[in-house]
Amino acid sequence: EQTAPAATQPATSGIAHPAAGVAAIDITDLHKSFGDNEVLKGINLTVRPGEVVCIVGPSGSGKSTLLRSVNLLEEPTSGSIRIEGVDILDPEVEVDRIRTRIGMVFQQFNLFPHMSVLGNLTLAQRRVLGRSRTEAEQVARQQLDRVGLSDKVEAYPAHLSGGQQQRVAIARALAMNPDMMLFDEPTSALDPELVGEVLDVMQRLASTGMTMMVVTHEMGFAREVGDRLIFMDAGVIVEEGEPREVLSNPRHTRTQAFLSKVL
Ligand code: ADP
Ligand code: MG
Repeated sequence: EQTAPAATQPATSGIAHPAAGVAAIDITDLHKSFGDNEVLKGINLTVRPGEVVCIVGPSGSGKSTLLRSVNLLEEPTSGSIRIEGVDILDPEVEVDRIRTRIGMVFQQFNLFPHMSVLGNLTLAQRRVLGRSRTEAEQVARQQLDRVGLSDKVEAYPAHLSGGQQQRVAIARALAMNPDMMLFDEPTSALDPELVGEVLDVMQRLASTGMTMMVVTHEMGFAREVGDRLIFMDAGVIVEEGEPREVLSNPRHTRTQAFLSKVL
């Protein structure tokens, strides 16, 4: 379906995907209030196809609200969000169809406890995408292989470690063949020794060219895997840039104060 207009953006540097003209995600002057509490105060952010954007910032700065807005789990108060050129706040747009293009992984893995890993991976494929059982199971096995959990097809979530559960959650999102993935502190609920296996999966995913927005406190991941690092505070993007540059040479005092606590 050709709903995307020609590129509305001035050409970006286009490093990741030189052929791509339309931004994967294009957020303009996004505001979000909960009652009197303005949580996002004019966010402008363009993510190129294949780009990995890491977002850091203090608790309560609006990081989750920003990600959730991209997936329309929150309804913005004003501003615009374009996904692959399509204005997703346009009432004509089918929200569910946009959502299937965007995979989301949360801090809490949100697996269905009464279903096996295979059941967790096939449910939305069948219900939302209308895939046959055979096809859904084939895709599920492929994605489990990708996250290194081929041997856990029949397991139930309670029998998996937190790291394995989060890898299942990533595989479940990937089984929908999303164009982009949003991660909201995917390793924050994990015991420290389990963080690495999840970050490894995410790093491999990034190397395949997946467009990713990652809210994280893992500065090593941001430095090694991120194409860009964004520092948010109190509902605004305070600073952004090449991750090594921002981490080693933060310009804003608020960024400096934050990094001095987490590094
Ligand atoms: P972060 O992810 O950076 O910690 P959040 O986006 O979760 O920040 O929250 C930003 C602010 O928005 C916080 O003050 C939080 O209390 C508020 N907030 C988030 N979700 C809701 C909600 N559903 N209703 C009311 N306030 C909310
Ligand atoms: Mg959050």
